[in-house]
Amino acid sequence: MADKLVIGNWKMNGRLATSQVLLEALSVSCAGGVQVAVAPPLAYLAAVSSVLAGGSMMLAAQDVSAFAVDGAYTGEVSAAMLADLGCRYVLIGHSERRQYFAEDNDLLLRKLQAVIAAGMVPVYCVGETLQQREAGIGIYQRVIGEQLAVLGALAGKEYVVAYEPIWAIGTGRVASIGQIDEVHQYIRDTLLQCHGASATIRVLYGGSVKADNADAIFSLKSVGGALVGGASLDANGFGQICQAAKKTV
Ligand code: PEP
Repeated sequence: MADKLVIGNWKMNGRLATSQVLLEALSVSCAGGVQVAVAPPLAYLAAVSSVLAGGSMMLAAQDVSAFAVDGAYTGEVSAAMLADLGCRYVLIGHSERRQYFAEDNDLLLRKLQAVIAAGMVPVYCVGETLQQREAGIGIYQRVIGEQLAVLGALAGKEYVVAYEPIWAIGTGRVASIGQIDEVHQYIRDTLLQCHGASATIRVLYGGSVKADNADAIFSLKSVGGALVGGASLDANGFGQICQAAKKTV
């Protein structure tokens, strides 16, 4: 089994001082034997990057501009700038971006391509709403399949998929082991069909991952790691999630 990857998405939380304190604690609780990245707010990327320099914890960004070339795009931050700051991963298509900023497949494909062109690895988020889940397997698989369709253009490129059922994000309601495995297998099968059987597919699970459910989630072979929101703001809890990931390596 390949090393699990654990990414902490801080979203729009914290301040410079609290970020420094959190990073210090994480450097102890997340040490060794597992791939860990943190995605701080954009405003703190540079500061976090200098704290992480020389260590094993990696830097991730929560979003990127779809404009790949420098120019008159007020407020935007390009993939090249994120790479310059030392980012290894960039979240693309998080449900909060899809919901609040109306990001659609065309825009997300441009972001995916910009991130890859800048030498980083996109973490492409997919997932269904509660209503789509309750409508049955045919409906939610179709929704996820449509979200995955943009990845068809990325054959041979390195990317990660994060399955994040929207009804499990920040709700404390985690998907069951059976539900996670079923969708992860579906994502794997869809992408293998698209890119060919020799493609390497890594699928993270995200949605209320906590210290007390991480062991069970990571025990699934189809789970390549976790995208963690709320629990990544607590060094102790995030540390325990990283330790759970380490046990499965
Ligand atoms: C997320 O927003 O990516 C997420 C998984 O959040 P939480 O862990 O808080 O559910």
